[in-house]
Amino acid sequence: MGLALVHSRARVGVAAPAVQVEVHLAGGLPRMSIVGLPEAAVREAKDRVRAAIQCAQFEFPARVITVNLAPADLPKDGGRFDLPIAIGILAASGQIPADALDQYEFLGELGLTGELRPIDGVLPAALAAADAGRKLIVPPGNGAEAALARNVEARTARTLLEVCAALNGVKVLPLAVAPAALPYRGPDLCDVRGQAHARRALEIAAAGNHHLLLIGPPGCGKTLLASRLSGILPEASEDEALETAAIASVSGRGLDPARWRERPYRSPHHTASAVALVGGGAQPRPGEISLAHNGVLFLDELPEWDRRALEVLREPLESGVVTISRAARQNEFPARFQLVAAMNPCPCGWAGDPSGRCRCSLEVIRRYRARISGPLMDRIDLQIEVPRLPPSDLRPDGPASESSDAVRGRVEAARNLQHHRAGKANAHMTQAETNTHCRLQPRDQLLLERAIESLQLSARSMHRILRVSRTIADMAGVAQINTAHLTEALGYRRTDRGMGRQAA
Ligand SMILES: [Zn+2]
Repeated sequence: MGLALVHSRARVGVAAPAVQVEVHLAGGLPRMSIVGLPEAAVREAKDRVRAAIQCAQFEFPARVITVNLAPADLPKDGGRFDLPIAIGILAASGQIPADALDQYEFLGELGLTGELRPIDGVLPAALAAADAGRKLIVPPGNGAEAALARNVEARTARTLLEVCAALNGVKVLPLAVAPAALPYRGPDLCDVRGQAHARRALEIAAAGNHHLLLIGPPGCGKTLLASRLSGILPEASEDEALETAAIASVSGRGLDPARWRERPYRSPHHTASAVALVGGGAQPRPGEISLAHNGVLFLDELPEWDRRALEVLREPLESGVVTISRAARQNEFPARFQLVAAMNPCPCGWAGDPSGRCRCSLEVIRRYRARISGPLMDRIDLQIEVPRLPPSDLRPDGPASESSDAVRGRVEAARNLQHHRAGKANAHMTQAETNTHCRLQPRDQLLLERAIESLQLSARSMHRILRVSRTIADMAGVAQINTAHLTEALGYRRTDRGMGRQAA
């Protein structure tokens, strides 16, 4: 027949656009050319495909073979097209039937002996194949991931020979199976002793999806607290979990299919590059902020971070999306993470500690805190000081702390109120929605205006205080925000004043 068409998919950001692999055979001096791939990738693909076809005891056609990957302007990385190219050559040369090809999509890198090797970005491809109404054939190493997409018939094949046997109707390939989701085994809040104030702030953060800043001396438990946040957040919906899993799938770091329902907790080190934090690269990959999508991003030692890297956070903190520009192409990655940041109160870490061991001058403390820009600080709704605990609070026989399960129950109740009211968590309300749903009684309005004045807060901060008040009222199950809710919310912006005064 001389011509075959095989369906496959590329990886562009978290999308998996369709790619048609067209194979044409013609008379002439035998050679093979691949159109639509970068030069180095073409050379490697040719070698692998030829070896795999020969190892599978098929004949590599001694003709002019032209392979076209369409559309031409899509970036096409790596070996994911090996399998569809090999299938196309075998179909075009009449060695396997071409009529069954249209109902399948193929993905997989070929080893020289014809075994199928896993590729990345399979979950987005499986979701897209489901939408296109086609079945999917993938390497065994990608089966569990492909099966997370519910509405696709995904099958796995170990070798090119097995795929051909299936297309010839002499073998049935096994269905890909998703592993059972493991129960959440993350750290529990019951390990955090004392720290009632910080635990309260953490619960408010979870209940309204607010960003949180913890300021305290080394060893006061900031990391311990931050790592407990994802465990008290409401369970992720299936759609949320799939979004997060799709990002992990294209990250090049792999996706653990048994843990795909868990909300991510990412804690990159402050020496991480801007690209590692926000994403990038020649074939752009998501960074930590996207890997934390629908979960928690913990940035410890906030003043130690590269300021440019932190400034890039401003856009995703508002919009939940990060745009990565690369040459003529723009990639968008979701990045709706909940930020927990931590810092010492001063360079030595002990400012304000009753021991009086801090010797930092006010000027040194001011410069230290000024490393974090006002606009970034503005976007963090809850800012609290976490003191060092007195040893009496750390006794192992002290009162037991509440577990994450108990706290999550209250968080979910508060979130349900929010979803009925605005269809989203309080922190994500627009300004208009905030004005509608966070109306204050006249005397509280006055109180807020005075506080804004004396704390010298921005209009953005005011809306954030209102949203936090709303969350506190929701946790109490109260429809009208009252003075106590507002006062508590204002208390979580106290550090603004500290920084503002020292900056003046
Ligand atoms: Zn100090």
